[in-house]
Amino acid sequence: MFEKLQAGLYEAIRTLAGQGKLTESNMREGLRLVQQALLEADVSLPVVKAFIEKVSQEALGERVMRSLRPTQQLLTIVYEQLVALMGPVDHDLHLKPSGSTIMLCGLQGSGKTTTAAKLGRYLQQRGYKPMLVAADLQRPAAIEQLQILGEKIGAPVYVEKGATDPLVVCRNALRQMPALGANVAILDTAGRLHVDQALMNQLAAIDRLIQPDQVYLVVDAMTGQDAVNSARAFHEALTLNGVILTKLDGDARGGAALSVKYVTGVPIKFIGTGEGTDALEEFHPERIASRILG
Ligand code: GDP
Repeated sequence: MFEKLQAGLYEAIRTLAGQGKLTESNMREGLRLVQQALLEADVSLPVVKAFIEKVSQEALGERVMRSLRPTQQLLTIVYEQLVALMGPVDHDLHLKPSGSTIMLCGLQGSGKTTTAAKLGRYLQQRGYKPMLVAADLQRPAAIEQLQILGEKIGAPVYVEKGATDPLVVCRNALRQMPALGANVAILDTAGRLHVDQALMNQLAAIDRLIQPDQVYLVVDAMTGQDAVNSARAFHEALTLNGVILTKLDGDARGGAALSVKYVTGVPIKFIGTGEGTDALEEFHPERIASRILG
């Protein structure tokens, strides 16, 4: 996770640490290397610009230039600004004990179905009784996949064989929730290969009718800037409560993790760190910043 970004930032810090005396010019050179590392990590350009401006303001100030350990100070500033860039995150899911709905949406292959089960497991560990709702009628295998995952975590899966209207499936599922012994419905909605109007209209209709307590977008971290762009498009159509960034275990660059909040205003709530149903973590900007800086 983040190996490439980590290596780039270290190169910048090492270059500075190698200078005998810290001057404004070698600090500027260090910041240029930080900027290069962020760009190579596929961080959005406006994010890089804002980040470097903030870090420069701090780094060229008295606190750093007069400090006895300037590179350490620079590291602290980069850490603080990374945390500010990715946060704050409200980890409360705002669920009602009487019955709640979480809607998951995202492009095909983003990890949505897997994440439905991971989230189910996360909720079980916190005393909730989740059920999974097979509302992805676009991809025939998704229903079976969800059933297998539901069995794995021991959660009921609501399926309507032969259904064609996901709205009807969601509405019926919520009616069945008490009978199935559940108090949180996790809706696995349809994805497409690309953001398109038909998909957005369908999701917006489900959102309007069902009024989920939380709407999360599942995005694949490995797709970098595309992940950020799709988050922006979904947020315009749906008003997201959070992003779930999957496949972070395979993401050496970290561009999506660093850009999503700044570009969309929507915080990352969870990260997917593997294929297993327990590979879901709450997103804590401080922990991620620490991982990035080693
Ligand atoms: P969907 O089309 O959005 O429902 O995507 P799936 O849930 O079917 O996931 C697509 C692929 O990504 C599957 O092979 C999953 O096992 C894999 N996957 C999902 N989340 C993660 C993750 O956090 N890490 C890794 N390494 N693989 C993941």
